[in-house]
Amino acid sequence: MAERPYIVGNWKMNGTRAMLSEARAIDRAAQRYMKVEVALAPPYTLIHAVHREAEQIGIGAQDCHPGAEGAHTGDIAASMLADAGAKFVILGHSERRQDHGETNKLINAKIESALEAGLRVILCCGETLETRDAGDAEDFVLRQLKSALPAFGDPAERLTIAYEPIWAIGTGRTATAQDIEAMHRAIRALLDNTYGEDVSAQVRILYGGSVKPENAREILSTPEVGGALVGGASLSAESFLGIVVGA
Ligand code: PGA
Repeated sequence: MAERPYIVGNWKMNGTRAMLSEARAIDRAAQRYMKVEVALAPPYTLIHAVHREAEQIGIGAQDCHPGAEGAHTGDIAASMLADAGAKFVILGHSERRQDHGETNKLINAKIESALEAGLRVILCCGETLETRDAGDAEDFVLRQLKSALPAFGDPAERLTIAYEPIWAIGTGRTATAQDIEAMHRAIRALLDNTYGEDVSAQVRILYGGSVKPENAREILSTPEVGGALVGGASLSAESFLGIVVGA
């Protein structure tokens, strides 16, 4: 990897205050691996607490509402995330697309709102196993991105893409290095066309889906892979740091 690898932990719907010690351990260790950019997306309830303790790692959220603060019971606006200390937000994760029926149009509105609030955005994309087996993975992912990407002229350099094949998330299966490289190259070409090569060069493309200490080195040394989005293995400092060390 040419640029500084970006390793992001996504705690999903996990974590009570008892987990703050893991975040603290990740932050302390990250100070010794300055060549890697380490970040953590805890649940909403822990963002402020992790932010107050963290000195080195970036803190982010796992979703936001597309609109401004107002009468939307149970929702959180991007500006509120920034106020709590979040620096980025993960949007378009396949679990939100599946569990909440999120469309590319809605995800696009959330991205615009997050960029407006000054946050960085990690936009997730990825195909199902049926789509891959049908030979449509690349078309599907590029279609997802085309309709969700922020408009030309927006601060697109604050964007990161995470390619996460749905069949590799939480299953222990990972895509082959060849498949990852091919998809990342296709995404890069789309970014080049959409924003021009200068802006595109600032957008990292992460891989996600069962990344763990044992496979991190191979995945992270694949051309065009700018880092990893890590779910299960980010819940313990020991396994997450095993990935950071391999980066
Ligand atoms: P996983 O999750 O590492 O547990 O497969 C990755 C993700 O969903 O971001």
